[in-house]
Amino acid sequence: MAKTALITGITGQDGAYLAHFLLGKGYKVYGLLARRATKTTWRLKYLGIEGKVTLLEGDLTDATSLIRAIREANPDEFYNLGAQSFVATSWRQPQLTALSTGLGALNCLEAIRLTNPKIKFYQASTSEMFGGMPEYPIQSETTPFHPRSPYGVSKLFAHWATINYRESFDIFGCCGILFNHESPLRGIEFVTRKVTDAVARIKLGVQKDLHLGNIDAKRDWGFAGDYVKAMWLMLQQEKPDVYVVATGKTTTVRDMCRIAFDYVGLDYEKYVVIDPKFYRPAEVDLLRGDPTKAKNILGWEAETDLEELIHMMVDADLKRVQDELKVAR
Ligand code: NDP
Ligand code: GDP
Repeated sequence: MAKTALITGITGQDGAYLAHFLLGKGYKVYGLLARRATKTTWRLKYLGIEGKVTLLEGDLTDATSLIRAIREANPDEFYNLGAQSFVATSWRQPQLTALSTGLGALNCLEAIRLTNPKIKFYQASTSEMFGGMPEYPIQSETTPFHPRSPYGVSKLFAHWATINYRESFDIFGCCGILFNHESPLRGIEFVTRKVTDAVARIKLGVQKDLHLGNIDAKRDWGFAGDYVKAMWLMLQQEKPDVYVVATGKTTTVRDMCRIAFDYVGLDYEKYVVIDPKFYRPAEVDLLRGDPTKAKNILGWEAETDLEELIHMMVDADLKRVQDELKVAR
């Protein structure tokens, strides 16, 4: 019999890719749709699945709406991908971040506990929980946590809440500690997409330069399309567990810029302007994940390297900006 999944954050980058992936596996897919003044389903449209998923109105900060969504969808699997997910915003809106990113996960767990504790639960944990401390240059499932932003702190609460509900109520709760993953559907405020969009605009003559903050920070970047498979694999195992999902390689923001500008034949040094406005109150300097456990137990490996990923994103942004310019003409 076909399985059913309920996804919070279905309108986000990962939610859209996961929905696409699960539909391909024959799932019936439901998604929680937060009420917004303007439409938020552009990513589902981009992947050609807008009419193929069922959207249920609800919000992570309203546990009653989660209970209603579970009653309606009756899912086998529940993926909690919804969050205020942008680190920089978490210092400007710390309470909102704690409520949606932190308490939101607890609300999901309570909703499962009160309706059907057999539902398998996936929590979107993050490498930001490690904080990139210099004494741990490679981070695995056993690396101590040291979150460096209200976002990281909120995610750590959600992470432990998931483990606690497993230990307390036997809920099948898995946490994927995913390192940064990107795609043409990444939010424009994140550094990879900000760079690839700027490269497209500069190349097409509609932007002069690109203002960035700390370009010495290092990240372990993978492709979101690869990473959603790991989420699903976690829920197919016999036992719930915690897994790091990463490429195992790390690159500076500077080198990522170089790759993007080189691809269109431009020199990044001529266009990148360092702007302290984008510095953060506390920085995560170095993230590099050790995906050995995911490889050994889930049989999962990243399939897309950083160059391929950045080229894919630049191509998508070139097309988007060209389309915008056609409409404006
Ligand atoms: P996005 O920011 O693209 O998507 C976040 C989603 O959460 C959107 O659908 C958004 O809805 C929804 N959302 C926000 N607040 C609420 C709320 N109060 N109630 C219901 N829905 C809400 O994130 P990603 O897809 O990139 O990431 C998915 C998850 O994985 C997030 O939890 C993120 O923190 C985590 N993560 C991401 C990593 C990455 O590199 N991408 C790395 C590690 C973890 P709307 O569209 O209406 O705003
Ligand atoms: P994060 O790892 O979840 O915070 O993902 P981001 O893509 O937002 O940031 C990755 C790294 O890029 C961080 O170390 C940022 O400080 C750094 N960075 C440098 N300049 C910028 C910028 O202009 N925007 C963003 N978002 N990040 C920047």
